[in-house]
Amino acid sequence: MSRHEPAKRKPRPVDLSFTPEQQAFRAEARAWLRANVPQQPLASYDTRDGFEQHRAWEAKLAEGGFSSVIWPKELGGRGADLIEWLIFEEEYHAAGAPMRVNQNGILLLGPTLMEFGTPEQKARFLPRMARCDDMWAQGWSEPNAGSDMAAISSRAIRDGDEYVLNGQKTWSTRAVFANWMFGLFRSDPQSSRHHGLSYLLLPLDAKGITIRPIRALNGKQAFAEVFFDDVRVSAANRIGDEGQGWNVAMATAGFERGLLLRSPARFQRTAARLVELYRRHRAQADRDPSIREAVLRAWMGAEAYNLASYHTVGRVAKGGKVGAEASTNKIFWSELDLLLHETALRILGARAEIDSDAEAHEWLEGFLFAQAGPIYAGTNEIQRNIISERVLGLPKS
Ligand SMILES: Cc1cc2nc3c(=O)[nH]c(=O)nc-3n(C[C@H](O)[C@H](O)[C@H](O)COP(=O)(O)OP(=O)(O)OC[C@H]3O[C@@H](n4cnc5c(N)ncnc54)[C@H](O)[C@@H]3O)c2cc1C
Repeated sequence: MSRHEPAKRKPRPVDLSFTPEQQAFRAEARAWLRANVPQQPLASYDTRDGFEQHRAWEAKLAEGGFSSVIWPKELGGRGADLIEWLIFEEEYHAAGAPMRVNQNGILLLGPTLMEFGTPEQKARFLPRMARCDDMWAQGWSEPNAGSDMAAISSRAIRDGDEYVLNGQKTWSTRAVFANWMFGLFRSDPQSSRHHGLSYLLLPLDAKGITIRPIRALNGKQAFAEVFFDDVRVSAANRIGDEGQGWNVAMATAGFERGLLLRSPARFQRTAARLVELYRRHRAQADRDPSIREAVLRAWMGAEAYNLASYHTVGRVAKGGKVGAEASTNKIFWSELDLLLHETALRILGARAEIDSDAEAHEWLEGFLFAQAGPIYAGTNEIQRNIISERVLGLPKS
């Protein structure tokens, strides 16, 4: 071999097998889910009844230690690692278990409190959150502060041991049914942009709060505008230092965009349903060969997202961080969700619009929700800006 020739290394096959402990964990999760997943589908969590049914289901998950497997044991979790989280998600979706309603708490505020909360705040809020005694709404967006969140103008002015809140939040998911909100408020009226903001927790039944439901595309009213009119909130409910709320909020947003919000199993399950739907309607679907191709692309997309997630989790386990793939992932899964549901509607044809057809209705509801994927958790345009600047190093303008 010449000095300049690269040394030929025999490629090592990637070991994709699970350890005996991981297999035992899978078996335990599967058995628990088989015994406990409700036999009948729950009503939509965007209705009062459905919300309560989902809350009861998640409280049961917490009793079983499966509320969030990566949470500590004493808080209804397992202290599990991210591989076990992926395994649990696979079992959860394969079991056809209900969609989760407590994500604002478990996925977003919970980890934020674990990182930034005082011991008193952790003791006060985390166990109630894990048991679903408190359900949380998220209060970032305002009519003039969406993608540009630093434009927040709702105020929280200090008065002794309290803050006095005035202003408006909007697009607050499930604020109609939740009893607490976390949000960002301008505590220094002279400040601008991301300075002078404080991160507060507030009970939604406080005097001076008005919650106005917003009707969504599917006709349901779980979204809300929330108005604050001289609302008094204890300073003990502030997370992090006064005026330093932006950093805390960025941590919460990082948890949202990172790995946890949309596990690959969710899309693999939808892809499997799509393949099933295609098989049953094949004669009709094959009249348009592009449908068959779309089914294939969607299925491969779900598998690719799964493998990419295992890759990321493997890297995190070795001390790496979820970096720019938070943005690429978000674009990928939200566009995949659209493809999955659009393809299903193409297979169903006019049947998709008949409300009394349960199967078609489920696809239609999923299709309507998929429209929101490119918008929430930071729009896909904003994610593309992040990728162009931070990954590709392109100029800001
Ligand atoms: C299902 C759903 C749930 C939500 N839940 C919550 C919640 O619980 N709490 C909460 O606070 N908010 C919530 N939101 C609001 C969401 O965070 C905002 O809709 C989102 O941040 C966009 O803000 P905006 O609607 O004001 O749009 P804008 O920011 O006004 O954007 C309008 C359009 O312009 C584009 N745009 C804006 N700036 C740029 C730029 N610099 N470069 C390129 N394009 C740009 C955007 O991508 C978008 O297409 C939710 C939204 C949805 C759809």
